[in-house]
Amino acid sequence: MNETLDWQCRDEENIMHALKRASKQPLIIENAKGCFIKDSDGNKYLDGMGGLWCVNVGYGREELAEAAAEQMKNMSYFPMTNSHLPAIELAEKLNTWLNNDYVIFFSNSGSEANEMAFKIARQYHSQNDSSSRYKIISRYRSYHGATMGALAATGQAERKYKYEPLAAGFLHTVPPDCYHCPLNKKPSTCNLECTDLIDHTITWEGEETVAAIIMEPYISGGGVLVPPQGYMERVKDICERHGVLLIVDEVINGFGRTGKMFGHFHENVTPDIITMAKGLTSGYLPLSVTAIHKDCYEAFETSEKYDHFRSVTTFGGNPAACAVALKNIEIIEREKYIENAYNQGEQLYEDMKELLSHPNVGDIRYKGLMMGIELVEDSINKTPIHEDKINLVLSKCKEKGVIIGKNGDTVDGFNNVLTIAPPLSIDAGTIRFLSGVVKASIYETL
Ligand code: PMP
Repeated sequence: MNETLDWQCRDEENIMHALKRASKQPLIIENAKGCFIKDSDGNKYLDGMGGLWCVNVGYGREELAEAAAEQMKNMSYFPMTNSHLPAIELAEKLNTWLNNDYVIFFSNSGSEANEMAFKIARQYHSQNDSSSRYKIISRYRSYHGATMGALAATGQAERKYKYEPLAAGFLHTVPPDCYHCPLNKKPSTCNLECTDLIDHTITWEGEETVAAIIMEPYISGGGVLVPPQGYMERVKDICERHGVLLIVDEVINGFGRTGKMFGHFHENVTPDIITMAKGLTSGYLPLSVTAIHKDCYEAFETSEKYDHFRSVTTFGGNPAACAVALKNIEIIEREKYIENAYNQGEQLYEDMKELLSHPNVGDIRYKGLMMGIELVEDSINKTPIHEDKINLVLSKCKEKGVIIGKNGDTVDGFNNVLTIAPPLSIDAGTIRFLSGVVKASIYETL
């Protein structure tokens, strides 16, 4: 038995994986540098998904390994019921991007950051004499995490139905899915009417029962949905009119992915709560953040009337993870990866847009270095292409040395979008390689 097969057998014997892969055998990754990964057979691949949309500064950064090692040697752990220097420095650093308007709560994953956001929103209302406000609204097709609350907020049926009942008090409204606009609008006739439905949802539910709306500025895992400019501002206005908090999920959008530091920076919007993970440490260590606007934080701890946040996490704010996040943000700034994400994203679209004349390519959407290519049976009926064909494209890309993704396997038929989200450190030559392989794979298989 060769070495790789041996690893794969041992994996199969001992490890439970999530989601179905196109091929049953997992890649056994032994080594990774920059935008490339190498498997146990020595094959090299361009990681066109940056891990899971998270390796923003690329692999193998010694500076990050050193930051972690130094911190672990000096002070490996202490709970955030007290505090430590890396946590304080990281919170300050995040606030340099956030106008010093926020306080930071640390946890470990994107799901957990969103759970914290829901708890904070509910407690905020209950401490402002509005304890009837408990409902959290999100949009179909969005993904907000795997835990029972974050999954309840998720708007993808396939990920949920085996685990119901999930947390109570979550409901969904329409996404800005322009290619399949539920209101049959065209870009030329759209006046963001889908936001009116969010407004109506709050009214019909009874605004005095609604605590918060959670949304990504640009839905990522749900198929890369890019609403017209002005969408978020409209939603923020609606929230303010109804006394509802706006939670912005920056777990994927954050840290340069969309061509700005945070996705909501594309609009003139100040969220009440922001959640972050993934690109916060570029995946080098687990860490997440729930940032609470100071106007909202006033409802906590600032007077006798108010209570503290009754939520402790053992590992949240781990010192080495904070030190890595701090260094990771420094790298993003120093290497100008936010600008690079914008520029390379534009280049990627330039290279890819010829695909729009292929009968099976319905739509190409992108924001910065996050792209979705929607594959259809034919571009007139927009029927999703069969999953087997998407898998063929993915396998062909892999054969040619590029890993890309597809959005979640969903029973609602929306599993037909190829996704691309490489490290933000990618250069123009590597973008050309990426687009060349994806195009050739589509032409050769469809
Ligand atoms: N929010 C969004 C938008 C995500 O894409 C994800 C993960 N893909 C999460 C939350 C959950 O993050 P985690 O997997 O770290 O729990």
